[in-house]
Amino acid sequence: IASIKPVYKIAAIPGDGIGAEVTNAALKALDTLSQSSDAFALNVNTLDWSSANYLTRGWYMPPDTWEDELKKHDAIYFGAVGWPTVPDHISLWGMMLPIRNSMNQYVNVRPTRVMRGTKAPLSQLDAKPSDLDWVIIRENSEGEYAGQGGTTHGHANYAVATEVAIFTRVGIERIMRFAFETAKSRPRKKLTMVTKSNAQRHGMVLWDKVFHMVAKEYEGVVESDKMLVDAMTVRMVNKPESLDTIVATNLHADILSDLAAALAGSIGIAPSSNLDPTRSCPSMFEPIHGSAPDIAGKGICNPVGAFWSAAEMVRWLGQGKLDQVADQFMEAIENVTGDPKTRTGDMGGQAKTDEVTDAICREIERIC
Ligand code: ATP
Ligand code: MG
Repeated sequence: IASIKPVYKIAAIPGDGIGAEVTNAALKALDTLSQSSDAFALNVNTLDWSSANYLTRGWYMPPDTWEDELKKHDAIYFGAVGWPTVPDHISLWGMMLPIRNSMNQYVNVRPTRVMRGTKAPLSQLDAKPSDLDWVIIRENSEGEYAGQGGTTHGHANYAVATEVAIFTRVGIERIMRFAFETAKSRPRKKLTMVTKSNAQRHGMVLWDKVFHMVAKEYEGVVESDKMLVDAMTVRMVNKPESLDTIVATNLHADILSDLAAALAGSIGIAPSSNLDPTRSCPSMFEPIHGSAPDIAGKGICNPVGAFWSAAEMVRWLGQGKLDQVADQFMEAIENVTGDPKTRTGDMGGQAKTDEVTDAICREIERIC
């Protein structure tokens, strides 16, 4: 008797530009993976929420129903949103940020390492690729992106604007605990906490306090230290091997993770997971790059960050039961990046997105 595979419901939001191209590629890889594996199946529901449709409909997500719609799914797979015809803050607040906030996705996880076949700029500094293996834990619900503030003195030339960062004890403590648990689960068991508590003397000092409190509980289990964000950028470049898990605020981690992705070779390979650790809402998985209008429509974008994000989604959905499948997916990805013939332009190759996608599907079929 054939065993019944668990079926996970996925909401796919391809979005704009290369977001749609890499989502298409990732869905093909996921389809091949689920066909090759007897461990799971996917039921994918594609949502046409994009900037082009915003311009004709006036909304990114259907105003009254989007939350219920998303909550019908076990996970959300997201490409990218943003297009030159719509101001960035409109597109970001039209879709990404409301989803993160409403779906309780208070953790953003960004693993970074030097994949097989990437030319990381750090090699010029005599660092070994294996020296760069980090996971950045970004606070995803408050801080500098809380959306608080306003403008006054209407006339543009005399306008006053405030942008208020919100930090709560609850918000800091839950991200800190998640970061310590992540560090504990990794071989090196090291956590670095990043703030700017010398200049920002309220919220950042609260971060320091909560960090010290939680660190006590992990004494002897996780080695931890703290850095100011400016000094951290220098340490990431000069002493990458001294870092493992990194936790920082919404803004700081946003910036540090772009730096991390660049140090690892290309922003085209980096994944991110927006997690609701309580699992009361669907978590969301997306490559960290944006819609890249400069290369959109040419079929040359790198789908590897989208593949890696898809692998993270499989791991999350499985709650431990799909780790082997996710590992095989990752192995397939590194076999593809390891072959010069299946690398895209940003990785120094000439392959098209479709060729990389065909290669990952073949490799998945071979391995799984
Ligand atoms: P956002 O505002 O969402 O961050 P952006 O358009 O400012 O988006 P990205 O799309 O993240 O910036 O990318 C910046 C540049 O990096 C792109 O213009 C493109 O040249 C390159 N790039 C990004 N992602 C990829 C990819 N997957 N493959 C190849 N090149 C990429
Ligand atoms: Mg950008």
